[in-house]
Amino acid sequence: MKKSGPFAEVIVELNARRTDRVFHYSVPAEFKDQIKIGSRVLVSFGGRQLPGYVTGFGVPEKKIRIKEIAGILGEGPVFTTELLELARWMADNYLCTTAEALSRILAPGLKYKPVREVKRFKAAVPGTEIKKILLTMGRAPKQAAVIKKALECPGLTRQELAAAAEASPGAVDTLVEKGFLEVFTGSRSRLHGKQPARTARTGNLPLNAGQSGALKAITGTLEKDKFGVFLLHGVTGSGKTEVYLQAIRAALDRGRQAVTLVPEISLTPQMIGLFRGRFGDLVAVLHSALPDRERYEEWRRVKEGEAPVVLGTRSAVFAPLPAPGLFIVDEEHESSYKQDDHLRYHAREVALKRAQLTGAVVVLGSATPSLESRSKAVTGGGPYRLLRIPERVDGRPLPRVRVVDLRVELKNGNRGIFSRMLETAVNERLEKGEQVILFLNRRGYATIVVCRECGLSLKCPNCDISLTYHLGGRLRCHYCNHTAVLPEFCPGCGSSYVRHFGVGTQKVEEEAQKIFPGARIVRMDSDSTSRKGSHQEIFKTFQEGKADVLIGTQMVAKGLDIPGITLVGVINADTTLYMPDFRAAERTFQLLTQVAGRAGRGSRPGEVVVQTHCPDHYSIQAAAAHDCELFYQREIPVRRSLGYPPFTYLARLLFTHADEEEVKKGARLAKENLSKIVLNDNLKIDILGPAPAPLSRIKDRFRWQLILKSPRRSPLKEAVKEVLAVLGRTRPVFKPVINVDINPQGML
Ligand code: ADP
Ligand code: ZN
Ligand code: ZN
Repeated sequence: MKKSGPFAEVIVELNARRTDRVFHYSVPAEFKDQIKIGSRVLVSFGGRQLPGYVTGFGVPEKKIRIKEIAGILGEGPVFTTELLELARWMADNYLCTTAEALSRILAPGLKYKPVREVKRFKAAVPGTEIKKILLTMGRAPKQAAVIKKALECPGLTRQELAAAAEASPGAVDTLVEKGFLEVFTGSRSRLHGKQPARTARTGNLPLNAGQSGALKAITGTLEKDKFGVFLLHGVTGSGKTEVYLQAIRAALDRGRQAVTLVPEISLTPQMIGLFRGRFGDLVAVLHSALPDRERYEEWRRVKEGEAPVVLGTRSAVFAPLPAPGLFIVDEEHESSYKQDDHLRYHAREVALKRAQLTGAVVVLGSATPSLESRSKAVTGGGPYRLLRIPERVDGRPLPRVRVVDLRVELKNGNRGIFSRMLETAVNERLEKGEQVILFLNRRGYATIVVCRECGLSLKCPNCDISLTYHLGGRLRCHYCNHTAVLPEFCPGCGSSYVRHFGVGTQKVEEEAQKIFPGARIVRMDSDSTSRKGSHQEIFKTFQEGKADVLIGTQMVAKGLDIPGITLVGVINADTTLYMPDFRAAERTFQLLTQVAGRAGRGSRPGEVVVQTHCPDHYSIQAAAAHDCELFYQREIPVRRSLGYPPFTYLARLLFTHADEEEVKKGARLAKENLSKIVLNDNLKIDILGPAPAPLSRIKDRFRWQLILKSPRRSPLKEAVKEVLAVLGRTRPVFKPVINVDINPQGML
């Protein structure tokens, strides 16, 4: 049969680079009106039926046999041309396939298959007239029973209604014919749809000078419907959230929608409460921890325009808003905005791209902006503008920070977790009935096990990371879950002085209970909060003043706004500083500033005690002095001299394989090819490695890496694309799996 146009261009849902292009299919007459850009369809491909996406219409190049689209999946288009553009950009920037990017963008909508729409029944007569009608039905008691049931429980299916009335399904049909029952269609997900919790509505707060200056700048650009980026650098407690809320209102007033991203950890009930209080049912909360059905329902509300205010984590950046006008990235420096599976996108970058495509405004908020964003904002010229709120709301002082040298503490014979200074400070707060946060950058009981005689640390035989000590004497690997018993003697030197080194939250809790016997202590870490909702319970207990001391990991560092907290104790500031990562100093500075920012947010001034073995390090000194500039002034020359971001762009190629020889061979082969490409194409790229990754083995797979550095981003992409193609052709000689990370945020 000869086929004539229109021909749909279809991207097939197959994650192979080879097939990452459009294929043409003819549109059968019966689908002509339904198939649009964004439709999800079923096509035959390589002898299989596969789902695909319609991305356009056109004429096939050659005289090839054109097949017909076999079916339509779902109702209506699943994406707009804007999201298609975004997918293409992601494919180009993160070196994935367009199909992969699309399936990531559409995940909440595709993962959950809503129950097929079914026919449901309700009474077509008002309750007041039922008596009259039932009288006329004296000789049909079954039919009367059906009508009664339909009045009581509208929305039952034919089978359900008949069964509930103890009648035959035929009785239901008869009543429909007579006009006593009405038929409508509905899906289960709608009937069971989650009702957003009712929250008392709140109004705008009157802004102070710093806040209103920032808001004016943002709304000024919003009103132009043009792309613009603001780096909102406001100290902790400066009231950035209020600026966000009022900016969102301004976007809604222009008929546009807004997305607010928060890092995983600080998606606290507090933030959701604030948003619901201000925007009620217009808010959709989107994050990957939601059950698929709830996530689908929220996603659908966003897509239909029912919920123009989106609040969520990383993946909420893909929210299918019809006309987004504002993207807010709170705590923009957070590394959790980087996805760390095979598609390593950065939500901040994606937000910037979407805003560019839609003529929207981006607000990047932070008390400790990343070096990358800051350098773009201070150099000027581009779309970035820097907005500063240098003071806390109501002129509240930033907390005083005191630094304790743990080496001196040890010399003075104190082997405990608490320095004298921290112990005294906690006691003072307890006496006054104020609240304390003890922050620890770890989980588990006591972490690394070390021989105090020879320095050997016990590591996981599969993963090459330190085993952590848990209550009851068990050692555990937090990557592969390998467990072992704490040995009595050191496997290296035979000494019996094998001790766990460093502490975990449980250990801090135990010791705190000993030294502060009267105190009410709660603990919040990923162990104690893995149960759903327990994070909120602990948080509520503390917020309501039913506990004096909150011990926690990263989770307590960010976002909490509790006026009763007047002391923050950092048990050990060094853990982040020793991470094998060029951002270790930056991360330490940011974390300390964030956690210190939890203190003194109410009317009483706050105080911070930081315990460390490196009191002279600039990241600790700058955090103690609340001096971002001091930190940048010290860190920037280091980055410049070593050629790290923001002065360069990085890419990491990670090679993994169960056989270490194969991984090494593969990484070397990749380097040889890369060097050739760099030379031939005259690209400005440095290649570091190959070297084992800091975590040189995970789940029995060896990991080696190459790090690429370039002053510009495009040569990196070019070189990586080329080498992937070359290596793809040398398989099966080349064996490892390759993971590409452009602009990596951590390289463990
Ligand atoms: P940030 O996110 O900048 O650390 P928050 O947005 O959490 O700060 O604000 C800190 C506190 O100040 C909150 O309790 C908030 O309700 C309050 N606040 C913010 N703006 C104002 C204002 N204009 N007037 C009074 N209180 C405010
Ligand atoms: Zn030893
Ligand atoms: Zn392991």
